[in-house]
Amino acid sequence: MRTYPLEEKVRIEKVIHACALCYVGMADENGIPYVLPMNFGYEDEIIYLHSAQEGHSISILENNPNVCITFCTHPELMWQDEDMACSYRMRADSVICNGKVNFEEEFDEKVKALDIIMRHYSDRSFSYSNPSVKNVKIWKVAVEEISAREFGVPSKNIFQYKDRTIF
Ligand SMILES: Cc1cc2nc3c(=O)[nH]c(=O)nc-3n(C[C@H](O)[C@H](O)[C@H](O)COP(=O)(O)OP(=O)(O)OC[C@H]3O[C@@H](n4cnc5c(N)ncnc54)[C@H](O)[C@@H]3O)c2cc1C
Repeated sequence: MRTYPLEEKVRIEKVIHACALCYVGMADENGIPYVLPMNFGYEDEIIYLHSAQEGHSISILENNPNVCITFCTHPELMWQDEDMACSYRMRADSVICNGKVNFEEEFDEKVKALDIIMRHYSDRSFSYSNPSVKNVKIWKVAVEEISAREFGVPSKNIFQYKDRTIF
């Protein structure tokens, strides 16, 4: 099994668009890491997230807005020899982004952000009530650094493959 860096922007963004979730890592004032699974939207090198107005993550981000956001496509189990544990691998693509969270407070910009998040999950268009826009916290993360890898790419004609869902 081989791991390849992905360089092409289009290919990297394809990985992001293929993910249903991202994992948002932050660090509190003592350097203790805190990682949350979150839904997201992505457009023009900006990651859009939304949350409640308060919570542990908001307290952390108000002191330290730096985040590391990881995306990973749905993994598939593969192996070279079904009887050899060390030949088992996962096949998936992943992307790691670094940036800073900026909270968007402007009403129309919040609606745009919600539209971008919803577009990631649905082709429908949506409207939002005033209180639901006011009460939501919108996080915008302009990507400052990005890296991507294909993991577990099988060598040609060597590995057996079984389509199996991993949870
Ligand atoms: C598939 C999925 C998608 C999600 N999408 C979103 C999203 O788009 N926006 C959003 O705001 N939230 C989302 N969540 C929930 C998110 O992961 C957090 O639980 C939530 O944001 C509250 O985080 P908080 O820091 O405010 O925690 P608080 O409500 O302040 O919770 C306090 C404590 O509870 C524990 N805790 C909090 N969250 C989790 C968790 N997920 N798992 C285990 N323990 C936890 C931690 O120890 C934390 O310190 C999603 C969760 C899942 C599983």
